[in-house]
Amino acid sequence: MKKIIRNILIIVCVFLLFGYLLSAYGSQKTPTTVGLDQLVKQINNGEVTSVDVQHNQFVVALKNKQSESVQRDGDQSLTDVLKDFSIAPDKMLGIGIKVADQSQADLWTTTILPIAIPALLIGLFFWFMMRGMAGANNRAMSFGQSPARENAKDDKNKVVFADVAGVKEAKEELEEVVDFLKDAKKFTEVGARIPRGVLLLGNPGTGKTLLAKAVAGEAGVPFFSMSGSEFVEMFVGVGASRVRDLFHKAKKNVPCIVFIDEIDAVGRKRGSGMGGSHDEREQTLNQILVEMDGFEPNLGVIVIAATNRPDVLDPALLRPGRFDRQVMLDLPDLADREAILKIHAVKKPLAKDVNLRKVAERTPGFSGADLANVLNEAALLTARHNKKTISQETILDSIEKVMMGPERKSRVISPKEKEITAYHEAGHAVVAHFLPLPDPVHKVSIIARGSAGGYTLKLPSEDRHMHTKQEFIEEIAVMLGGYLTEKAIYGEVTTGATSDLRRATNLARHLITDYGMSDHLGPRTFGDKEEMIFLGREIHEQRDYSEQMAQKIDEEIAGFIAQGQILAEGIIKTNRDDIERVTKELLEKETIEQREFLALVSGPNA
Ligand code: ADP
Ligand code: MG
Ligand code: ZN
Repeated sequence: MKKIIRNILIIVCVFLLFGYLLSAYGSQKTPTTVGLDQLVKQINNGEVTSVDVQHNQFVVALKNKQSESVQRDGDQSLTDVLKDFSIAPDKMLGIGIKVADQSQADLWTTTILPIAIPALLIGLFFWFMMRGMAGANNRAMSFGQSPARENAKDDKNKVVFADVAGVKEAKEELEEVVDFLKDAKKFTEVGARIPRGVLLLGNPGTGKTLLAKAVAGEAGVPFFSMSGSEFVEMFVGVGASRVRDLFHKAKKNVPCIVFIDEIDAVGRKRGSGMGGSHDEREQTLNQILVEMDGFEPNLGVIVIAATNRPDVLDPALLRPGRFDRQVMLDLPDLADREAILKIHAVKKPLAKDVNLRKVAERTPGFSGADLANVLNEAALLTARHNKKTISQETILDSIEKVMMGPERKSRVISPKEKEITAYHEAGHAVVAHFLPLPDPVHKVSIIARGSAGGYTLKLPSEDRHMHTKQEFIEEIAVMLGGYLTEKAIYGEVTTGATSDLRRATNLARHLITDYGMSDHLGPRTFGDKEEMIFLGREIHEQRDYSEQMAQKIDEEIAGFIAQGQILAEGIIKTNRDDIERVTKELLEKETIEQREFLALVSGPNA
């Protein structure tokens, strides 16, 4: 940008200069032109003080301070002219005759400038061209350089550990790295070998990038960050060269942190042979390994990498001396969610009724990024409604928006479809309510959201990490609740249940292939999930079982679904009244909250 402005300034200056020169020549005062006879008369009358002989004219100065010019014909000399007119020589005496130095003034206007100006213009033109090309060349030459962004210690945007809530263990682990970056001597004196690489693992949005920045912020060292995908470019060999350059830069700035985000983009297991860019990735990965082995252990460069796919990483990355420290970032639990919400609420004007604890309770399974998003959505919504403070209700609405997409209140839906949706959702809700294990129903709605026609929101009362087989079967029953209610009421089903059925089927499959919950197939998993990515899509599962086993798995899946179906059908049959009541209320209000729902149904908690 600066360059462009400078170029424009230069051009403008050049033009101004030319303009000035031209106007200087052009604006010479042109005296009145007179004939030779007039001049002769004036000389005879003694009115002339001097005659200035120029290239193509005589400029005559008169006694009355006026001046005039007389056309000069070629090389006529003034004396010849005057002689022709037979002027008395004594009249000539009083006149000063100046012969202007033709060779100077006229040389400029007639000879040099006409050549010099175009030459200058052409020169300038080439100069600009060359400059442009040099720029392009530079860009081409810098292709192999890493576009790593260094964010030095600018205090304003500095991230510190206090900006990262939760992830206590991860912070403790990284505390050591910070200590080392601050005071390496303390460690080297006792002969400690500092880890060269730290690998941050965790679901998307759990704060890996944030935490890496916080380490740099805490230690007050430069932070070179690059994303794995930035190594992979159109040209072969660029990745490896960028890695070299990145580490080169880092070594010049010790102590510092090199952060490779989304390292799975280059660090996938080698030799899986999928995809065209795979050779390039291998070279890049090899270069990373070489660089990490290359620097002395206590040089002061610490490599932090982040990924949400540790399962696909090449084992060579994980061996000691490379990324031997692995720090796991879990999804935040209740207390952590509250803490994260607090951090992100700092600059937002919250209404008095806001209870972030309640918000945290309603957001199990949310990542830090999701939570930040919830508060941001709430702020946007508040601004859109021209309110000054963010209310609890707005935040709770935003949770559902983040979870399921925005409400589509305007979707036109016929009364018949509305009724079917109401029965469907009532079915989910009632089955969930009467089964002992599923999470309590928080909200039932027939307002379309995202791609769903309606939704039943269930929330666990606490964070859970383990689930039993019976829980899964009841979960399947709840998923089928909508479909089976439609069937019980109308005798047929609609397309609205497709995603329920798919989820139920997938869950049943997981029970067998991943969790070993089938009584007949024994404690084993099915399918080698070491996935490969081809054209950005996962090709799932390498089959590691026989054709007969595949058949048995299918039978088992059908069995689990049947168990869920029996459970759900039983509840739908015996609690038909409850379903009717909930449906009626839904048709009237479209959305019912937990309290209203519990008032409508009998049974536990009612
Ligand atoms: P990742 O790299 O793990 O995918 P990021 O570090 O990019 O996730 O996190 C995305 C955003 O989510 C952060 O910028 C921050 O606003 C928010 N966030 C995530 N985890 C936390 C946390 N533990 N504390 C505070 N904010 C967080
Ligand atoms: Mg990230
Ligand atoms: Zn459904």
